[in-house]
Amino acid sequence: MTSYSAVQLSTELRDVFLTCPLCLGRFLKPKQLPCQHTFCTRCLFKWFNARPIRAKNLQCPICRDSVPVPQAGIQTLPDSMLVVSLMEFLDRKFETNESISSVLVGLVHQFGVKGNAEGQLYKPLGVAVSGDTEQVFVADCKNRIQVFDMDGKFLRKLVVKNLSKKFTPTFVGITRHLSMDGSERLVISDINNKQVLVCDLQGRLLRQVGKHDLGMPGGAAVTSDGQIHVVDVYARVVRSYDRYGTPLRLLGRYGSTENAFRHPKHIAVTKNDDLVVTDSSNNTVHVFEMSGRLERAFGVRGKMDGEFRSPSGLAVDCEGNILVADVGNHCLLMFDINGRFLRRIDDPIDDLRHPESVAMAGDCKVAVADATNHCIKFFSF
Ligand SMILES: [Zn+2]
Ligand SMILES: [Zn+2]
Repeated sequence: MTSYSAVQLSTELRDVFLTCPLCLGRFLKPKQLPCQHTFCTRCLFKWFNARPIRAKNLQCPICRDSVPVPQAGIQTLPDSMLVVSLMEFLDRKFETNESISSVLVGLVHQFGVKGNAEGQLYKPLGVAVSGDTEQVFVADCKNRIQVFDMDGKFLRKLVVKNLSKKFTPTFVGITRHLSMDGSERLVISDINNKQVLVCDLQGRLLRQVGKHDLGMPGGAAVTSDGQIHVVDVYARVVRSYDRYGTPLRLLGRYGSTENAFRHPKHIAVTKNDDLVVTDSSNNTVHVFEMSGRLERAFGVRGKMDGEFRSPSGLAVDCEGNILVADVGNHCLLMFDINGRFLRRIDDPIDDLRHPESVAMAGDCKVAVADATNHCIKFFSF
């Protein structure tokens, strides 16, 4: 008998048993049909959607056995536990980075159960992820910010004291530019108090911004010089303040021309301190230099890849690409800084419903507040 190395065996096991017959790649969330044939969830979903007639049943791509699709969709078919445990076993024994990385693309996990109780979520609008503490801050429509660990375990509710009116957060962001030592601060838009609140991660109120001029704060972002830039949804401008909250200037005005807003919503800052602003009514993303000069505006209304129907939440990734959550098209899109559409990050099967905001959660990972599904979804790309 020829000698056979463990590595060879592992490679063959992967090729024969851990390769999806549809995409010929490593299984991604494998589902097993009653006939025992196994496929990636995404591949089955695409297979099912491409069927000629809108039949209720799914036909196994290999043996043509007919399988009723559960009402809640393909994703609720049983996982192939055997394949998953075999993949995990081989990954532990033989670390082969390229095959492992393919598992980590797309929707990697999610948490959130609909409700008012502590630890539940009701229409989350804002999400921020702390790199220092690996905690997730979620603002939802129950006038609260709750803190979770990355696995979705509820840790605590954020209590902000000394506010004159009821705390009504709709946006939460995190910045390192408002502390002397680079530690993280929360930037919270409170629509009832018509202010942006700067707090530490414990919720201690450090600064109130926009007290005298903000109509209704939308998203907020902070440039490296500590300037705080806030979308004023009522006035349809971006207001900039210094780190102490002193008003500095306005950006934009009402209208449909290139440098004007009809419904500005969110703002993000690039590495060069350019300001990126979404306008959900003009279906546009504006990029301003910090000086206030409009560098470019991009976006057209539509349903096709790279088009908008109400762009909302924004993030800038480590490469400088712009991620846009589109509420009306229910998707997460990636553009380069020049506005060139690169790709869609989510898959239709991930079922985003009115994604309101997005936050970086690591180098190539984002957290999305999925408002209508009452949950937070994490995508790797
Ligand atoms: Zn596949
Ligand atoms: Zn089959």
